[in-house]
Amino acid sequence: MLFKNAKIVLENQIIELGFLKVEGTKITKIGEGKCDEPGIDLQGSWILPGFIDVHVHGGYGTDFETGTVAGYNNFAQKVAQEGITKYLQAAVTNSIADNQKILKEFSNFMSQQNGLSQSRCLGAHLEGPFISPERKGAHELKLLMAPNIGIMEELVKLANNTIRMVTYASDLQDGEFTKFLLSQNIIPSAGHSNMRASQFEADYQIGIRHITHLFNGMSGVSQHEPGLATAALLHDDVVVEVITDGIHIQPETLKLIYKIKGPNGIIVITDAMNAKGLPDGDYKLGGLEVEKEGIKVVLKGTSTLAGAGATYDYNVRFFLKTCGFSMTDLIKMTSINAAKQLQIFDQTGSIALNKLADLVILDKDLKVVKTISEGKIVFGE
Ligand SMILES: [Zn+2]
Repeated sequence: MLFKNAKIVLENQIIELGFLKVEGTKITKIGEGKCDEPGIDLQGSWILPGFIDVHVHGGYGTDFETGTVAGYNNFAQKVAQEGITKYLQAAVTNSIADNQKILKEFSNFMSQQNGLSQSRCLGAHLEGPFISPERKGAHELKLLMAPNIGIMEELVKLANNTIRMVTYASDLQDGEFTKFLLSQNIIPSAGHSNMRASQFEADYQIGIRHITHLFNGMSGVSQHEPGLATAALLHDDVVVEVITDGIHIQPETLKLIYKIKGPNGIIVITDAMNAKGLPDGDYKLGGLEVEKEGIKVVLKGTSTLAGAGATYDYNVRFFLKTCGFSMTDLIKMTSINAAKQLQIFDQTGSIALNKLADLVILDKDLKVVKTISEGKIVFGE
């Protein structure tokens, strides 16, 4: 498969007019200028590395909690229309009994997705139950608990080692839980916490470098009570997830985050829930009733945000329109930083020879034209 007449966004450079060849699952040729070989003429469209969403609950009628193997596959097919080629599927807080059922089903899906024409799920992102009741967002209060290594070990086993990230209130443990996650090759992510900024430091020394949806579900930036958001902004090597839909974070705050963290410190996420891509109305998030209106989702009858309804490509356009950065900076925040956090940057996350052909093709308005996952066209003709 050959794509030609494209603007290709490499890690630190843009080829204004070039071509790219895919053989099998890999990128085998990248060139500048016109190409006479037969191929797909992109007429000046962009080729970017596929987007990596490390925090998406679901969409198109499926989420982690309602998931069956068929449902997870449906999501993996549909999410390709957003330009996503790799993702972590996020779980809300579930009961132990529910987790026994869901995590088993999820691990079955994980072991069966090879060779299918869809985006690839890289594992689970557990957003609960180890979070603070004071910053619970749309998680069920009675199911929350302090970080607990014994229970985490059980969850790892139930999920057959498919858990790649855990969000937790790191102030509610003594550092041992953080060490345990790192020993299991699971990314520790601080979030849903009411901690003081100073309480972040001990776990920072241990190795925590990831923050779950900065500003949402956490203590903030205040001259009297500096919180987790303050600590996250202060450390240059701490990478923050940001929901760039303009609702979870207002535009001025988005600009502030970008100004402080820069393109190396941000990962764009959706935090999308199962109603993404479906009509407005009433839906469920875990056991909670929620209502969706446009891209906004709230707990029914309240103004508490309950996951999100925007697609990844929408968030990309909103963020770029608001902060006005280059395309080489954009791909750091949509692909490169996430791939590095997941330790898969040697295989994917940027356009380079012999890397996986995980690609998204965008038109001049940055709408998704095609998505290619591991060498297969999974969205677009
Ligand atoms: Zn979430």
